[in-house]
Amino acid sequence: MEDAEKGHTELYQKMMSLAGVTGGYHRDEIFDEVKRSDYLWCLHCGRTYRRGEYRYVDGFQMCPYENCDGSTVCDGIDWEDIRDDHPDYPENPERNTMYNL
Ligand SMILES: [Zn+2]
Repeated sequence: MEDAEKGHTELYQKMMSLAGVTGGYHRDEIFDEVKRSDYLWCLHCGRTYRRGEYRYVDGFQMCPYENCDGSTVCDGIDWEDIRDDHPDYPENPERNTMYNL
């Protein structure tokens, strides 16, 4: 495992233990965020997915797209926050489409 990747999962793990999370949708268990949309945008692959979706890898809830090492906890950004800077982006983003910041 690369150092960056390792630091990443350590941060995720730390957040889990601080929040005492043992199940559910980790992101929602860890953050008490204001949900502005039903979608999250992935910082690693630039694609979007429905809030609540994830790919389960070694106990972590990762970005649902294959081969993406972004997690739903550390790398997901509310789609509406992205749209603040890109009002031309659709309210309901296309699946598997990359949107640039
Ligand atoms: Zn991703």
